Amino acid sequence: MTDAGARAERTMRFIYTLRSKGVTDAAVLRAMERIDRGAFLRGIFAERAYEDMPLPIACGQTISQPSVVALMTEALEVTPRDKVLEVGTGSGYQAAILSQLARRVYTVERHRRLVLEARAVFEKLNLVNITALSADGSFGLPEQAPFDRIIVTAAAEDAPGPLLAQLRVGGIMVVPVGQSDTVQSLIKVRRTESGFDYEELRSVRFVPLLEGIAQD
Ligand code: SAH
Repeated sequence: MTDAGARAERTMRFIYTLRSKGVTDAAVLRAMERIDRGAFLRGIFAERAYEDMPLPIACGQTISQPSVVALMTEALEVTPRDKVLEVGTGSGYQAAILSQLARRVYTVERHRRLVLEARAVFEKLNLVNITALSADGSFGLPEQAPFDRIIVTAAAEDAPGPLLAQLRVGGIMVVPVGQSDTVQSLIKVRRTESGFDYEELRSVRFVPLLEGIAQD
């Protein structure tokens, strides 16, 4: 088989796996088809990019499982006019998927090295509507608030107050919450005129949302 043929087959299998895990939104599937997860992984792990599993990245962190990325993106109900905030850039993969669906994506990460590496991949893939910054994302990004959508890809004990405050009325936030490393629930929060509506989606497992900027 040609290289192009093998790539097409690999992509088809990848999308098939996502569908079999319950991903149905056509725009999300198209974004997952366009963005090559292999570009966000290094060394031996790049070969496993199309398997539905989390994998190690630099700074002891992980790139999320593709089906979880897809289901969280689906839950976020992104529209082409949206300004989105992601907390926890990691490899940059989730931000890249969002960049295909939103007008503008801001993504913040406490490890500078991950920010620099993600920026390099965004540039290589010509994803010009993403801004990656190093910051403690538990405080959000007040200078760019309010946001139409907020996605947190690290687990907090509760939906962080500053993030709720930076969500526009009518906006949606998706965040894993839980007291421990093993039991967490993915929560979907909608801001209404009078408050917040909470919906529990499924159980998930994410690295914890930590305080402050890391040393590397
Ligand atoms: N979305 C990523 C995976 C995220 S892993 C991807 O697509 O690859 C979670 C990331 O959240 C880690 O890189 C971790 O360093 C980061 N993180 C944890 N606490 C944070 C905080 N307070 N502010 C910003 N980033 C944080």
